[in-house]
Amino acid sequence: MLILLKKSALLSELQQITDYLYKRNIEYLTSRSNERIIIEILHPEDEDKITDRDLLKNFPIDFVFREKTPVFSPWIFSRRSLEFIAGPCAVENEEMLDKTASFLSNLGIKYLRGGAFKFRTSFSSFQGLGKEGYKILSKTAKKYNMFSVSEVFDTRHLKYVEDIDVLQIGARAMYNTELLKELGHSNKPIIVKRAYSATIDDYMQMVNYIVKSGNDKIILCERGTDSKYSKSRYSFDPLSVYKLKEFGLPVCVDISHPAGDRKIVPFFSRMAVTAEADIIMVEIHPDPINSLSDSAQALSFQSFKSLYENSIKLKNLIETMDIYG
Ligand code: PEP
Ligand code: MN
Repeated sequence: MLILLKKSALLSELQQITDYLYKRNIEYLTSRSNERIIIEILHPEDEDKITDRDLLKNFPIDFVFREKTPVFSPWIFSRRSLEFIAGPCAVENEEMLDKTASFLSNLGIKYLRGGAFKFRTSFSSFQGLGKEGYKILSKTAKKYNMFSVSEVFDTRHLKYVEDIDVLQIGARAMYNTELLKELGHSNKPIIVKRAYSATIDDYMQMVNYIVKSGNDKIILCERGTDSKYSKSRYSFDPLSVYKLKEFGLPVCVDISHPAGDRKIVPFFSRMAVTAEADIIMVEIHPDPINSLSDSAQALSFQSFKSLYENSIKLKNLIETMDIYG
């Protein structure tokens, strides 16, 4: 369990918390990152002696994350290895998703993504298959022994996602506080994407709506920030991964949306691995040119395979380096 305080917290405030822990015979370790003071509770069995309400009500605490096993257990994301979430932007039909899942599961990928309701700028763009999309996704993921990952951006979607394993909050819905509060009552892991222009602090305040409503199975996700390049609207900022890792939660990088162009996607993958992302999300399609949404950034199966293999090689190489030296 991690308790995070702003760096500006007063020593006396820190002392109040450590007194509270000491009185309860709870062992802890304090450390300081660039922006926060971190108190780590060393023994999981002590966590039950602390209630979030106690802590948040009485002390100037920024965040409390209880690393409950489900987020980190093997059925979901392991924190040591690099995981991939891949699949089409949108579930278009059963056949294309089946081909995709069969290809991915052969490679050993465990997480199948696919949008059901799509948030599109233009009314005439493909809006997704809606609740049918969720059904196809969960059925296909189960068939290939994979986990399904799909977006919700409206509280009305929640009644359709019982069989989806991991829910995703998109960059636009990040500010939908009513939806975030509802997700606090879910026990599914939630991938929360950071909006293109949100600061890390604003983003974490939004994440806190879910955590304080009762669900701390959070996966943080970078999906690109505003860019100044003439054709691409977004770019990937690796510094944000560094900053987000301070929160002790798994960090995912969506390398497709900030790229917007399949030629750039492998480059962002190398950057994400180097920045020590825990999870990489990629859009792939059996026939990328004819993808009904985000076709310019969709990778072919062949391109994804080499991106995946190169990313694992790079990850293994980085693990042999003393990067903190
Ligand atoms: C997506 O993952 O398909 C998506 C729409 O993402 P974002 O919210 O980051 O645009
Ligand atoms: Mn997309």
